[in-house]
Amino acid sequence: MAKEHVIIKNISKVYPDGTKALHDINLVIEEGEIVVLLGSSGCGKSTLLRIIGGLEKKTSGEVYFYDKEISGVPVEKRDIGFVFQNYALFPTMTVKDNIRFGMKLRKMSAEDMNTRLEHLLDLMNLREYADKKPGQLSGGQQQRVAIARVLAIQPTVLLMDEPLTALDAKLKDRLRVDLGIMLRQLGITTIYVTHDQAEAMAIADRIAIMNKGIIEQIDTPENIYTKPATDFVAQFIGKINKFTGKVMKQADSCMVNLGFAQVPYTGKNPVGDGEEISVFLRPEDMSIAEDGVVATVEQCAFMGDYCRIAAELDGQKIFFEAPNTVKVGKDERIHLNIQYEKMMML
Ligand code: ADP
Ligand code: MG
Repeated sequence: MAKEHVIIKNISKVYPDGTKALHDINLVIEEGEIVVLLGSSGCGKSTLLRIIGGLEKKTSGEVYFYDKEISGVPVEKRDIGFVFQNYALFPTMTVKDNIRFGMKLRKMSAEDMNTRLEHLLDLMNLREYADKKPGQLSGGQQQRVAIARVLAIQPTVLLMDEPLTALDAKLKDRLRVDLGIMLRQLGITTIYVTHDQAEAMAIADRIAIMNKGIIEQIDTPENIYTKPATDFVAQFIGKINKFTGKVMKQADSCMVNLGFAQVPYTGKNPVGDGEEISVFLRPEDMSIAEDGVVATVEQCAFMGDYCRIAAELDGQKIFFEAPNTVKVGKDERIHLNIQYEKMMML
């Protein structure tokens, strides 16, 4: 099993103006792991990252790198690399010199420095810009230089705060794949902050979903999607249908009545007879069929590679995606194949 590298214990943060940014955060990151902090703006991602990096003071709790508590260790001695949304390259230096900068400070031999520089120029697709100055590069190219410059010093812990947010969508798509491959190649323990789900899914070993200063769930992208631990996570990640069902308890069974169907209760929490609970189902777990429950179409929108169908099913609103060849009109009655076993109850 991999070694525990960054251990966050009971971290809380109250800013001087009284803002409670973090509540009792616990998180263990393994050596070489990429953990993404994902959440909407203001949920405390940057605050947590900055506390780990020593750029912000915690109110209480501890941060360990291996078994060493790091509060007393000055930022420059923590062997951390930072990449922020707004990169600051040295404008008068060439791309090469920007990348070499940190290595020079660390007094690496010219040979080692050049080997690493060459590797990074290839890895980050920067070779043709090596002798240019930052002002001659696009935003995406500059950000790649900023990332290369940090990777050059091979930090043991890399902290990235929305590093791709300023870039355009196509470039972002490509860079996040490259970045993930590269970080794994280098084996750097990485904590990566973003508000972009697709980015988080693409790059993370595990995702920590943050909400109002707490971590709602930390797990692999797949488990976050298929086994959300809380109502918040279910509705935050991906698209989802939410039904209300009524618990029907008998001596030897516990069912949930959804109106259009009755399904076994599969949630973890104890529930009482007659209790109303939320039941979630991803749109891909529903499709139009020859028979099955009947729904009434409210809208069928052509979206390009699929049609998005909104319908009413026994008084409950649903939506799902159908092949783009499907043509159904408003008020048309359709049959649905519902994968009941995929229904999620929390
Ligand atoms: P995120 O990075 O997830 O958008 P932040 O960590 O930046 O969130 O902020 C978390 C909360 O703390 C927000 O409510 C924000 O307004 C507040 N906050 C951030 N920095 C400060 C500060 N220096 N002083 C007071 N409140 C702050
Ligand atoms: Mg932030």
